[in-house]
Formats: sequence, structure tokens, C-alpha cells
Amino acid sequence: VVCGRGLSMCFGSRLVLDNLDLDVRAGEVLAIVGGSGSGKSTLMRILAMLMAPSSGTVSLFGKEVSVNEDDDDVTLRRRLGIMFQQGALFGSQSVLENVCVPLLEHTSLSRPFVEQLATLKIALAGLNPDAATLYPRQLSGGMRKRAAVARGIALDPEILFLDEPSSGLDPISADAMDELVLQLRDTLQLTVVLVTHDMNSLWRVADRIVLLADARIAAIGSLNELLESDNATVRSFFDSRR
Ligand code: ATP
Ligand code: MG
Repeated sequence: VVCGRGLSMCFGSRLVLDNLDLDVRAGEVLAIVGGSGSGKSTLMRILAMLMAPSSGTVSLFGKEVSVNEDDDDVTLRRRLGIMFQQGALFGSQSVLENVCVPLLEHTSLSRPFVEQLATLKIALAGLNPDAATLYPRQLSGGMRKRAAVARGIALDPEILFLDEPSSGLDPISADAMDELVLQLRDTLQLTVVLVTHDMNSLWRVADRIVLLADARIAAIGSLNELLESDNATVRSFFDSRR
């Protein structure tokens, strides 16, 4: 459903991604892993059409896309849900208002209907209805992530991009977050692209893993395939995390 071809990204003179080819398959959970600063978030943002690559192309649902505001692309972008690394909820708005934002922006539905839909998404993300009226600062880390997920699925996306959904959470909340990812994939038939550095998450949710190192894809495959790899880069990445 997502095809990246020849993707490169430079920031100034720093080459962060060097000519990557990557396909995301319908219905899978694809995890992007790699050391800090290896370009995971950058790759995710490019695949999610939030950022144009320096060169290369991204196709979504079989159609090549560009990061500008032409109408087709806006329609395509609506089919993507995104949760940013920092959660990025609006601090001055309640959870309910946060989840309403994309619905108000991208649909012409009436306010009461939007609120109903948002309430549904809040429940789907595993938050108690009482949480809807709370402000981000009143939420635990896990609840904040769930609120960000609720906003990410507000428009019924087909692909959900999650940047470090379980980072900063205690192990139990992190496990619960993994459960949520699997549950959303199954109930909403989502394709999920997630960035993580959590080995437990890889075990629990990832169908395939892309390992980034030195601006390239060092390996791609199931966790078992990667753990059995005799590629030195792959081994050193996983050896440091066992
Ligand atoms: P982390 O594990 O810390 O989240 P990451 O793998 O997600 O890291 P990126 O955020 O993609 O890495 O960043 C890759 C490199 O590109 C880093 O060196 C970062 O400083 C640089 N970079 C990212 N975004 C920008 C930007 N907008 N402008 C300049 N440099 C950037
Ligand atoms: Mg990142």
C-alpha cells in the first residue's frame, strides 16, 4: 500500500537516508528500528507524506504522491493517520476537542456528530469516557499516547503511522499500547507503520522489521529472520538489546 523508491534525504550536507526502496504491505505491522538519529522518524514522515524526500518517490495505494496541496493528495492524506513522536496534543484543548480537530478540519459534519465520532474513537483507543473532558497535562503518559492515537484514527485511516508509541511508558503501559496496536489492526483492518526501539514491542507486534543503519536499510524481515542474520550490522544492533 506504500511504495518508496530511491528515497534519499539530506539535511544540509548530512545524508540521513541514502536511496532506500521500501514497500509496506496491506494489513501488516511494519516496524522501523535503528539507532538514535538513524533516520527512523524522517523515513516515517516521508512515507506518511509529511515531508518530501530530497529525491525519490512515494506511492500510496498505487498512486505516486507529492507533498503539496493538490486536491487528490489531500484525499489521499486523509487515508493516513499519524501519531507523532511527542504525541503533539494541543495542551489548551481537552482530549475530546483534540480528537475533533481533524474531523472539523477535513469533514463538513455537524459539531454534535463530530463529537459523537470523536467519543467513539476515544473509546476505541482504550480511554475511559471520563478522560474526554481532561486536558493533556492531566493525563498519564499512557493516556496521552492513547489520546494521540484516538486523534490519529479520527478520520478512519487505512494506514496508521506511529512514532515511538510505547517510548517513555512503564512496561505495563507499554504492553497495553502494543495490545492496542494489534487490536486496532484487527478491528479497523489497519496497516501499521511504527517506529520503536522496544524489543518487547518487536516481539509482540511487528510482522516485519526494517533496520536502518548508515542511512541504508541494513536488513528487512521478520524478527526471527533478523535475529538469525549473520550480517555484522544486524548482529550488533540486536546484540546490544538482548
Ligand atoms: P530518534 O531515535 O532520536 O527519534 P530518529 O532515528 O528518529 O532518531 P530522525 O529524527 O529521523 O532520527 O533524524 C535523523 C537525523 O536527521 C538526525 O541527525 C537529525 O538531527 C536530523 N534531522 C532530522 N530532522 C531534521 C530537520 N528538520 N532539519 C535538520 N536535521 C534534521
Ligand atoms: Mg525519531
